[in-house]
Amino acid sequence: MKNKCAIVTGSTSGIGLGIARALARQGADIVLNGFGDASEIQSLCESMSVEHGVRVVYSAANMAHPDETEAMITDAIARFGGVDILVNNAGIQHVAPVDEFPVEKWDSILAINLSSAFHTTRMALPSMKARGWGRIVNIASAHGLVASPFKSAYVAAKHAIVGLTKSVALETARLPITCNAICPGYVLTPLVERQIDDQAKVHGIPREAVIEKVILERQPSKEFVKIDDVAELAVFLCGDAAAGITGATLSIDGGWVAQ
Ligand code: NAD
Repeated sequence: MKNKCAIVTGSTSGIGLGIARALARQGADIVLNGFGDASEIQSLCESMSVEHGVRVVYSAANMAHPDETEAMITDAIARFGGVDILVNNAGIQHVAPVDEFPVEKWDSILAINLSSAFHTTRMALPSMKARGWGRIVNIASAHGLVASPFKSAYVAAKHAIVGLTKSVALETARLPITCNAICPGYVLTPLVERQIDDQAKVHGIPREAVIEKVILERQPSKEFVKIDDVAELAVFLCGDAAAGITGATLSIDGGWVAQ
């Protein structure tokens, strides 16, 4: 992947960071994006760059804001000459009954988990077409295929990103560009850590019990999916052996959606 430019949204933490590291290991230049402590992000960029001999730049663009999202893509094209790999990963969660769901949380989840992928895709695709190669990987979720209660906005956004994936795949099917969705089950990241803490408070039970009885209840393996395994699946989809895979939803969920 030498000299390929990979943008990974929401890559200062969790799955996105794992994917950015795995793509850098393959030689891709990286645009890191997301929130966090400025000096920690700077040392993250430097260490990734030194370790893998690639260029790593950071964009603080807020994926809830289309103008900032557009600027991130325009800047990447200016720096690297184009975008070759786009991983739409930024995401947030909020858990509440639909009739109590805060309207601003609904709007944020739809903007960050869904609309940002529309904006990055529409901005990056002309550059992929011009370079004659491209890979778009959307990080959906098991919740892109099946629902859970109290996650209406997340489930709606994740189902919709699966639809977006299929539509973009059909539009690019005759080109050497693919668009696929990865649908992970539960992966132990800060996003899930927050849910464990919240559920422990709600149910008044210890953390270990929340993991076993609440979080992993739907995941037949009874184990968290590993960040590195999701990252390696993304790397595979970005490789030449995956040229024939497009419009697919790839589950990596310990058997969740087989039920
Ligand atoms: P995380 O909280 O560890 O990381 C989320 C990343 O997104 C962080 O870098 C954060 O700074 C960034 N981010 C949040 N809001 C942003 C915004 N407005 N603009 C730019 N960046 C923003 O979460 P994670 O678990 O690694 O989740 C990553 C993706 O994987 C999400 O789309 C999530 O829905 C999906 N996913 C996670 C799991 C899981 O169990 N962890 C399962 C299925 C799908």
